[in-house]
Amino acid sequence: MKRVLFVSLLFLSGLTLRADVVKSLADFQAAADKANEVLVIPDWPKTPLEVQGEIDSAIAKGNAALDAIAKQDLSKVSFESTAVALDNLQNDAQTAVQKVVVVQQTNKEAAMRDAAEKAIKVFQDWAVGIDYREDVYKAVKAFADTTPKLQGEDALLLEHTMRDYRRAGLALPPNERSVVEKLRKELAKLETDFEANIVAVKAPVVFTKAELEGVPDSILGSPGVKTGDDSYTILANVTFHYNTVEETAKKEETRKHLEQVRFNLARDKNVPVLNDILVHRNQIALKLGYKSWDDFQTEIKMAKNGAAARTFIHDLVAGIQPKFDAELAELRQLKIAETKDPNAKINIWDWRYYQTELKKEKYTVDTEALRVYFPFQHVLDGMFDIYQSIFGLKFTKIIAPYKWIDDLQLYMVTDAASGQPLGMFYLDMFPRDGKFNHFAEFGIISGKLLPDGKYQRPTVALICNFPPPQKDKPSLLSHQDVETLFHEFGHALHAIVTTAKYVRFSGTSVPADFVEAPSQMLQNWVWDKKVLDTFAADYRDPSKKIPAEMISKMKEAKLATVGVYYRRQFAFADIDLTLHDVHPEGQPYDSVAMSNPIFTKDFLPVGSDTAFVAFFGHLAGYDAGYYGYAWADSIAADMATVFEGAPNGFLDKAAGMKLRKEIYAPGGSRDIDISIHNFLGRDRSIQPYLKTLGIETPAKAKGGPSSESNAGAAKPPGKP
Ligand SMILES: [Zn+2]
Repeated sequence: MKRVLFVSLLFLSGLTLRADVVKSLADFQAAADKANEVLVIPDWPKTPLEVQGEIDSAIAKGNAALDAIAKQDLSKVSFESTAVALDNLQNDAQTAVQKVVVVQQTNKEAAMRDAAEKAIKVFQDWAVGIDYREDVYKAVKAFADTTPKLQGEDALLLEHTMRDYRRAGLALPPNERSVVEKLRKELAKLETDFEANIVAVKAPVVFTKAELEGVPDSILGSPGVKTGDDSYTILANVTFHYNTVEETAKKEETRKHLEQVRFNLARDKNVPVLNDILVHRNQIALKLGYKSWDDFQTEIKMAKNGAAARTFIHDLVAGIQPKFDAELAELRQLKIAETKDPNAKINIWDWRYYQTELKKEKYTVDTEALRVYFPFQHVLDGMFDIYQSIFGLKFTKIIAPYKWIDDLQLYMVTDAASGQPLGMFYLDMFPRDGKFNHFAEFGIISGKLLPDGKYQRPTVALICNFPPPQKDKPSLLSHQDVETLFHEFGHALHAIVTTAKYVRFSGTSVPADFVEAPSQMLQNWVWDKKVLDTFAADYRDPSKKIPAEMISKMKEAKLATVGVYYRRQFAFADIDLTLHDVHPEGQPYDSVAMSNPIFTKDFLPVGSDTAFVAFFGHLAGYDAGYYGYAWADSIAADMATVFEGAPNGFLDKAAGMKLRKEIYAPGGSRDIDISIHNFLGRDRSIQPYLKTLGIETPAKAKGGPSSESNAGAAKPPGKP
């Protein structure tokens, strides 16, 4: 029904529907054979028993493969029988678990999702143990000890495999290794506690209506907030509650009180846990031969060491100072005007409120009104047209033999010039109960040269939650939704057009401080009028394009607050790096005393009676990694200049093909700095990033050091 109505609406409004010629996998098999490829649609588990069976057999197969590596005659080991054998086993295991992850995130049946969740836990426990199979390590080491003459991706595979073992402590004498193992287990437990304490904390704060003057009815009327005749319960732990009150409450006392509660969340429980986590991390790093935990964490990233990450962030803090000062001065004027206090200052509980006021006063953009320009199907088709054109690809809808949801779509990607099949992507685009509730690209099958010499082409899924179509109108995206779609689809292409031989380097298996950069770069596309005009049009009257002034207003609004936004981000990164910097072994940590002064120095003063680090979830999982957001941002801005300087801007085919060839195709199979350098045609520069931050004059900031070899962090299940 919905579909028919949607079609007729489009017809009535004069838009033309594309004639989708739906093909099947068989239509591509001849071309795949010719290209010596393995091209298969994933074989999905369809019952809870099959889900469990998928993982059970993956583990059994994995164990058999590990045993085979371990059982070899150590005098006859080869590259294929060691490092490649491990990559083969990773390929099989990864395909199994990634299918189960997609089941867990998307299946309509709770029993399927539960079975998947259980199976994933079983798999993870098994996977952790692989590193500690000493018999396997001995075989790989026996081969490495022959100092083989390997080239390129092969050399990198062996190097990274040995590096993993070293990082797990396998290169240490047995007694020291067991200490590291013990510390790591304790650390994992502490990190779980830290996260659990953050999730568990609840901090209701009761206000009167008068105290909440300015706060919109949408929140005051939302479930659980109005708790008495004149009492409203705001949860300081719910980010949406906290942000809304801080953005809109006219009374400074209200904002201040809520901020104090927020900045003390989980304090009693998590401060000691965090201090203990830091002791453990420092001990592990020192035992493994690193100067600090941030050196350990950044070794496998572009930054390579903690000092490089720190210099990068400190230079940015300094570089953005004038812009930050100017923004604060403007916010202060608003506060002076409102409070009539000539000495008014912008406090940590003020900036959100006066930024909101500033936007209302100077940069009013009705973002809701923009939705009419972005009917889902037209945005999708428009994005397909652009990406097919600039990357030399063709997308063809094919029949999905199994669908976990009716409106699931499956597409084949082929090389436009040769017709060679490159891979497939699923689209699961609308929300429903029990489904993953963000937007992400999930790998399913990875690119990989198989032992029989055939190349396994990848399959991925885009799992999103765009507004569903309504009875009387199609799904209409916000501008931010459109930006998200362009971003996530970039990850899909990165995975699909890969040419890497090994799973650990294929597609998006690149250093964690780089992986977001290409997709962040693609976000620029939706801020470009020329790009938008290729597809964005009022669905009720397609002759109406987005008014240019709306785009420029939105850009101005973004630029007007970027100094405050980033100084806060840099403060987080600075604190994260400082907590993980060099520290005497065994010495206790005082994470609050270490972090509060940095927040005060880099952003705005926080009281010594607050401890926001206790609620800073990134410290478990992204530890010594927060800088990576800015690092990737800076590379994204730098890479965008290749398109900006090209004859056809963001629609330039030569620039697009260069991105495909130099960034997407090699993935992590070579030093990422070489890929970036080849794409840019010059050394990296931080200037384009500073420009996006509103800093026009050259600052002393640099783009971090250039580097030697690096790649291949463990692949996360999905890339947000
Ligand atoms: Zn992303």
